Amino acid sequence: MIDLRSDTVTVPDQGMREAIAQAPVGDDVYSDDPTANSLEERVAALFGKEAGLFTPTGSLANQLSIRSLVSPGEELIAETNSHIVRAELGAAAVFSGITTRTWPARNGLLKASDALEIARPDSGPYLVSTTAIAVENTHNFGGGTVQPIDQIKELHAGASKLGVHLHLDGARLWNAHVASGVSFLEYGKYFETISVCLSKGLGAPVGSVMLSTKERITKSRVWRKRYGAGMRQIGILAAAGHYALDNELATRCKAQGLLISALGPKYARLVTHMNFDDAQCDEAIEILKKALVA
Ligand SMILES: *Cc1c(COP(=O)(O)O)cnc(C)c1O
Repeated sequence: MIDLRSDTVTVPDQGMREAIAQAPVGDDVYSDDPTANSLEERVAALFGKEAGLFTPTGSLANQLSIRSLVSPGEELIAETNSHIVRAELGAAAVFSGITTRTWPARNGLLKASDALEIARPDSGPYLVSTTAIAVENTHNFGGGTVQPIDQIKELHAGASKLGVHLHLDGARLWNAHVASGVSFLEYGKYFETISVCLSKGLGAPVGSVMLSTKERITKSRVWRKRYGAGMRQIGILAAAGHYALDNELATRCKAQGLLISALGPKYARLVTHMNFDDAQCDEAIEILKKALVA
């Protein structure tokens, strides 16, 4: 059976299960889980953000992010078919008193002007004020659309002028990064809050990470507990995230037909041998070049 329903159907391989089994753990409600702490720091550093927060789902990472940017009675604008608007069951309205307004885009493709034209900050006593814009990259219901970095830059410039915050729903930002070659640090520059999933393309069984400033993350940690997601020895989940990031490169190479050994975050083993010829060498180099684009 070939299962192409979703990238969430993956199950942990033996290596990931071993990493889970060996993870040092502690009570994360006391911030005592070393594996969760190091994963949060690691993902934050990847994107040039001050801090990270492990969440059980991407929906929660999105919801904590937008509630930190938008006050009750204010507005978040997003693309019509975005996950935040269509697939989070009205959570922004139910839990945070946030109203949403949307712009439609073919295949979810971002055009900065679409969002900027409907943004209405400081609308006074009659109309709802826009305080944040959400961008989804890649766009799920758009069909995996990778958002153009020039449009993200333009949106950032326009939103800054208006004093409107930007949130990135980066559930599949890993895929956008591989497809576009845009670095995580570059994506990190344009958004005040970011959510990324560990449980999609990276193949971890559970988890997402919210990224932002220390101040926003400290407040969001309180809200995470209030939502009922203050978890205890979550190092066993965070370890899978570490493992997935360590083996990212290996997974990308494997998808292109090249097997390598991932020995650490910046340490891979590739050994030539008798059954490896010049043509394969050229091919392996091409696969590696593509997989290493950052
Ligand atoms: C999967 C996904 C999420 C989060 O989903 P959860 O099932 O809550 O982890 C958020 N945004 C997008 C675009 C997604 O595809």
